[in-house]
Amino acid sequence: NGLQVAIDGPASAGKSTVAKLVAKKFNYIYCDTGAMYRAITLKAIQNGVALDDEKAIAEIVKNSKISFTPDENGQRVFIDGHEITQEIRSEDVTNSVSAVAAIAAVRKQLSGQQQEIAKDGGIVMDGRDIGTAVLPNAEVKIFLVASVEERAKRRYKENIQKGINTPLDELQLEIEARDYKDSHRKISPLTKADDATEIDTTALSIESVVSEIAKVINS
Ligand code: C5P
Repeated sequence: NGLQVAIDGPASAGKSTVAKLVAKKFNYIYCDTGAMYRAITLKAIQNGVALDDEKAIAEIVKNSKISFTPDENGQRVFIDGHEITQEIRSEDVTNSVSAVAAIAAVRKQLSGQQQEIAKDGGIVMDGRDIGTAVLPNAEVKIFLVASVEERAKRRYKENIQKGINTPLDELQLEIEARDYKDSHRKISPLTKADDATEIDTTALSIESVVSEIAKVINS
């Protein structure tokens, strides 16, 4: 049936890029759990709900249906049947998502859905707490890191391709702020699982990171 492969790490460390390629290589499903937190955040913003209104956000997460369909770029994301693949990447969502992800009801609901998606194995799941909380028994756990300067540069290049021109130092501050929030929240904060293999991707090509992970999967 295939293994459960958990890939965690801080923002913009290359998780989704390599997770998609690893999934392709092993013919596994790819699941981007960050997209689920982003989907709830987008809906809260669109409904005019304050990000600290935990009750209202808990209602949203309870009454929303997030779904994925695979495509050549990884996956398309839907909430309640509407496609939100692009919208969930906006700066607005990016800067608000950590607050939503800190809410207990949100984590409970989404991690339950993630466990359901992963239950049969043959999956590469990326996020912040997959190896520590969502799939603590995953056969393969990877923790991807890279220097914050390198992560900001990567995001800068991605943005330029999308026609967005946020200054590099601003991106670095955003990344640092999000990592701080994700690492300091009460429930399943971002941290390396004891049994995860850490890979520093700062000086590595995408291909070498993928082959490092493939080695761990095949070992
Ligand atoms: O991976 P991505 O940057 O899209 O994740 C967006 C945000 O979702 C993270 O900054 C974090 O706040 C939250 N998240 C989380 N747990 C996960 C995946 C993402 O809390 N497993």
